[in-house]
Amino acid sequence: RKLNENDVPEVISEDTVKKQASAKAAFGNFGIDSRLLQAVNREKFSAPTPVQTKTIPLVLGGKDVLARSKTGSGKTLAYILPILHSILQRKASYTSNKSTSVLILVPTKELATQVTSALRSFTTFCNKDIQSENVTKKEDTAVTRARLAEQPDIVVSTPSRAAQWVNSEALKLEELKHLVIDEADLVLSYGYADDLRSLSAVLPSGFQTTMLSATLRTETDTLTTLFCKNGTPTLVDLSA
Ligand code: ADP
Ligand code: MG
Repeated sequence: RKLNENDVPEVISEDTVKKQASAKAAFGNFGIDSRLLQAVNREKFSAPTPVQTKTIPLVLGGKDVLARSKTGSGKTLAYILPILHSILQRKASYTSNKSTSVLILVPTKELATQVTSALRSFTTFCNKDIQSENVTKKEDTAVTRARLAEQPDIVVSTPSRAAQWVNSEALKLEELKHLVIDEADLVLSYGYADDLRSLSAVLPSGFQTTMLSATLRTETDTLTTLFCKNGTPTLVDLSA
């Protein structure tokens, strides 16, 4: 075909380049369950944050991960999404008895509340397939016991409460597949080391660990030794 004056060379605008770049780092590329993507899309996030981009594929790939990045960088979603995805996959692949497969440890009750509400929000489209319970609430022991007797998929707790519920046999962790320690540096500096040691003694073998922190102090070595395969997690360090 002959060129004519109406032919214009294809010019890729800066805008298109930006759009392509953000499409590259889209949540859809992680391969996570569409029900989770639907919840993410509702948030109108333009792209995953750097700690999410690095951490999500590692957790999906079964690695133990220690991620350091500053406060406000999106660490919650970096572990929530891949963990929720694995729960949905397990539920789709075999008919298992309901069991607590995820334990999320946090340093404070406030954080337990925040994480639980994030879990609830990102599971809105999962048709009540995933149950999350915060066991740090001030309530009658019998009420917490009853909630734990349901074997919620995910339990969110401080280490001391978790150890207490395990000791009283209300919290059963025989089927644990995933342990998360959020704000790992604070968990240690708040003096939970003994509780963590007592928890580590009752955990089954073969679970995966994800630890998140705003700083990396040598203390986190205690945690990696207790909870990571060979004591050495894959590091995601974005604290430059
Ligand atoms: P951190 O645990 O690293 O301190 P959070 O997980 O609490 O950070 O996230 C901080 C805020 O950033 C939250 O309000 C969260 O909704 C928001 N956020 C998370 N991921 C994204 C994203 N990809 N794009 C924009 N905002 C995000
Ligand atoms: Mg956080």
